[in-house]
Amino acid sequence: MSDQNLAYNTEWLQQQDNQHYLHPFSDHKTLREQGARMIVRADGVYIWDSDGNKILDGMAGLWCTNIGYGQSRLAKAAFDQMNELPYYNSFFQCAHPPVVELAKTIGELAPAHMNQVFFTGSGSESNDTVLRMVRHYWTLKGQPEKFTIIGRHNGYHGSTVAGASLGGMKPMHSQGGLPIPGIHHIPQPYWFGEGGDTTPEEFGIQAARELESAILDIGADKVAAFIAEPIQGAGGVVIPPDTYWPEIKNILARYDILLIVDEVICGFGRTGEWFGSQYYGLEPDFMPIAKGMTSGYMPMGGVIVSDRVAGTFEQEGGEFFHGYTYSGHPVAAAVALENIRLIQENKLVEYVKNDIGPYLQTAWQTLSDHPLVGETRGVGLLGALELVKEKAGRVRFDSELDVGGMCRTLSVSNGLVMRAVGDTMIISPPLVISHSEVDELVSKAREALDLTMEALQAEGLY
Ligand SMILES: *Cc1c(COP(=O)(O)O)cnc(C)c1O
Repeated sequence: MSDQNLAYNTEWLQQQDNQHYLHPFSDHKTLREQGARMIVRADGVYIWDSDGNKILDGMAGLWCTNIGYGQSRLAKAAFDQMNELPYYNSFFQCAHPPVVELAKTIGELAPAHMNQVFFTGSGSESNDTVLRMVRHYWTLKGQPEKFTIIGRHNGYHGSTVAGASLGGMKPMHSQGGLPIPGIHHIPQPYWFGEGGDTTPEEFGIQAARELESAILDIGADKVAAFIAEPIQGAGGVVIPPDTYWPEIKNILARYDILLIVDEVICGFGRTGEWFGSQYYGLEPDFMPIAKGMTSGYMPMGGVIVSDRVAGTFEQEGGEFFHGYTYSGHPVAAAVALENIRLIQENKLVEYVKNDIGPYLQTAWQTLSDHPLVGETRGVGLLGALELVKEKAGRVRFDSELDVGGMCRTLSVSNGLVMRAVGDTMIISPPLVISHSEVDELVSKAREALDLTMEALQAEGLY
């Protein structure tokens, strides 16, 4: 296949990229200086760049290509649907077969009390929809003063105005005057980074009680909902201590506050259950979804809504003035359906739960003997490791050094996409990854750690 790559002129592409393409989530100055890596094709768990380098994609694109690359059945589903009905909307009392079938299918996979789905074009749009639905719900219930939504520091809920406001990413808030009013953030359940001298169990309770203090400060009659990822993804694969979610559940029930579980990453098999809510035994009122829903082959998202909320919309009536031109897009819906069929036929959720998830976790843990690794952790096909200067006392490197960024760059050049969140290295490979590919992933991760240590030693920093 390498001769195929001769068709790409990397330098020309990078020049045009520099002149015309404004990238998302990029420092435009450094990007222009260094040039973008051109990814030209992909198959299974591998991507190829325009210079012919083969790279194991340990991040499944952006946490989304759950069924891996090169699944031609999804291409056929899109082709057939485009020929049959490329577009029609669901406004004004219309629908079409793919969107109806997709809503039914997702309703059957979701927790028993959730049976209706609103469709969007992305995870960010899903969270915009959630914000409006939550407030609309309490207005219909005659309690419009229940308006404030509580999120968490370092949570990620997307990049639109509502998504970035619900999220707790400080650098995002500092650009554009966010968050918007009516959103409050509490600390995250990040034991390694913030647990101090507590045990993880103690810290889980303590972090959950932050929710209760916030509710009491704001006034329970003013709090509409709590939003959280089951496991924080973009925040650095932050896995809450086992005590966290049960305590959160108790608090929400005590004050009659809705629960929004952002399933954009955890949904569609990543934890070894269809949804992270099932992994943690949660009963949300809303589950925003996207990413693995289509395995990234088409842009699509949605919000799965509880019977309690959907029932209120139906009983109270009145139009909910909200929707997107592409809500329930027929081609995206056909691709999502085929993606779910493939996950089911190949028993990928069971594979993550009983086979490849435990296999990856066992292999990933072996990295904890590396001098730079302060902790390894993971659930299903999510993994993280913490880079430290000294293991004892969890001593970090100076953040100015960007040791995580260094490790990521060395890893990608060495043939593995890992991502860095500060000095936390994270992985989220496609669910179809095989045992030998996991072995390759973990040995490449170890090589990246060795290369990072050598680079630090060469500069006298370690
Ligand atoms: C990626 C992500 C989003 C945003 O989804 P987009 O499709 O990028 O808009 C929202 N929530 C979580 C948890 C995510 O990981």
